[in-house]
Amino acid sequence: MILYPKKYINNVLEISADFLKEENINGLILDVDNTLLFHDRKMLTGLTQWVENMKKNNIKLCILSNTNKKDKVDKLSKDLKVPYIFFAKKPLKGGFKKAAKILNMKNENIAVVGDQIFTDVIGANRMNMYPILTKPLSQTDILITRIKRPLEEYIIKKYLERK
Ligand SMILES: [Mg+2]
Repeated sequence: MILYPKKYINNVLEISADFLKEENINGLILDVDNTLLFHDRKMLTGLTQWVENMKKNNIKLCILSNTNKKDKVDKLSKDLKVPYIFFAKKPLKGGFKKAAKILNMKNENIAVVGDQIFTDVIGANRMNMYPILTKPLSQTDILITRIKRPLEEYIIKKYLERK
């Protein structure tokens, strides 16, 4: 089902290197807004250590954001020492292909982590990557996202009932 993630978690910190290895995942494509950063650009507490730990475990990372705010993603990329692509137009495939090239691995070994079904999850499924959906960090969204949230909540409800 193209709308469903393979895993639904509270935030990225719940992703462990052991879990990724069990699932044959060696690379992560990471969303920014409401996944790594709060709406006010504050970083999720513990993120730096989590990123360090992933790198130590040979999990490669790449940031893939739809935002057009280059300064925001550029700063995060420098803080975390993780490469980035911004203005990615997810769920279109172009950005994901670029990210896979940066990670230099097959799509089947890449997981996509993000808080939105209509960009992150659909994009991952279209690419045959492993979709991990997180709860959004803040309740504040840009307008276009706010419109999509009730439908996302309905899909997540159906997804959870299915199990
Ligand atoms: Mg997001």
